[in-house]
Amino acid sequence: MSAEIIEAKEKSQLRQKQMIANHFELLSRAKEEGKKVVYTFVPGNLTELIGALGMLPVLPEINALQSGMRKKSAAYIAEAEKAGHSEDVCTYVKCDIGMMKSGNIGPTGMKLPEPDLLLLSYTGCFTFLKWFELLKQEYKCPIVMLHVPYQPDGVITKEMRDYVVQQLEKEVIPALEKVAGKKLDMDELSRRAALSAAAEEDLVAVWESARHRPSPIDGYFGGVYYVGPIFSSFRGTEDAVHYYRELREEVESRIQAGLGPMAPDGRVTERYRLVVEGPPNWTSFNDFWQMFSREGAVVVSSTYTRVGGLYDTGFRHDPKRPIESLAEYCLGCYTNLGLPTRLKLLERYVREYQADGFLINSVKSCNSFSVGQLLLLRKLEESTGVPGGFIESDLVDPRYFGKANIENRVQSYLQMLAAKKERKAS
Ligand code: SF4
Repeated sequence: MSAEIIEAKEKSQLRQKQMIANHFELLSRAKEEGKKVVYTFVPGNLTELIGALGMLPVLPEINALQSGMRKKSAAYIAEAEKAGHSEDVCTYVKCDIGMMKSGNIGPTGMKLPEPDLLLLSYTGCFTFLKWFELLKQEYKCPIVMLHVPYQPDGVITKEMRDYVVQQLEKEVIPALEKVAGKKLDMDELSRRAALSAAAEEDLVAVWESARHRPSPIDGYFGGVYYVGPIFSSFRGTEDAVHYYRELREEVESRIQAGLGPMAPDGRVTERYRLVVEGPPNWTSFNDFWQMFSREGAVVVSSTYTRVGGLYDTGFRHDPKRPIESLAEYCLGCYTNLGLPTRLKLLERYVREYQADGFLINSVKSCNSFSVGQLLLLRKLEESTGVPGGFIESDLVDPRYFGKANIENRVQSYLQMLAAKKERKAS
């Protein structure tokens, strides 16, 4: 049984690796094959629309995090700082700018094509605006912005939806059509929305599998791999549907076998169940993961893995109302939610996934996540009675990952959870 499971696990990982490699290859040939390229952001991405018009998306955050994992980000950030970008700027931005100034060689070593359009889907993070202003100075291509109203109290009103739909119909789609040189085929958009919904359904089943004991997944360190296809270029494709179906089947096999998730240092035996808020560190990702896996700490749910779409609150792309559902998708992105809604979501994760604790990884350069995190910590402790922990690092700037310091904090926190469990048991 376990050999089958390991083989099945490798199948989905291999499939994902191949999908991503294929996409970068397609991008490297885009100009000679006459394919148009759209740069856009992960939260609020309109991949179905871009794909329906035969264009290819480039997601700058994905390039930055991949550069971080491949130890290339420090040099890119230094390049951007030399060009005058301050230490406080989001390090994804500096990594991207540094990469561009160093020849725009993507993380896989292949050159990235220049954009034919900058599609700024603004979902709550002000840095998105500034980032594309900088790219606009470098690239001689048009830019179009989708303004998504902030959700201060967790409600999407009819007016908010209509406002986004109107912009999509009157500004964004015409701008995309102009660059693509053809009209949008609504049947093709609906077909892609249906594929998105199928993949989203399976992804939610994967998230919810963490309710089992032991959890068959790590919903943060493992989870960032799981969201790779749906957060990047593959939503609305058959590839994504196959990937998530395969992943779901693997996870179900692990549940049947009573197995926990794999980590870089082997299979994890669950001792602690955690919820994590905030993005991970990418430059020392495996070291960071092993601080948890070695101690048997499994993350049962996290907010970062919802940053490109909150599917476990019930949202699905809808082939019957593709444009409206794109608007709802953008409105519902995690970066677009106010603190009370984020708090409710975290409370739900702590309760539904029966977490022993929750940990906040406060990332220096991401204001969108780190604002209000200390308040979240206090409120969440009050409302759930579960103890919280707080660590600080960064996304892709290795200067802000203090391994010994973070490890000490994680260990002390887990020791405190162990003592609490013992007191409860006695
Ligand atoms: S500040 Fe945070 S949310 Fe905004 S672009 Fe940077 S990493 Fe993304």
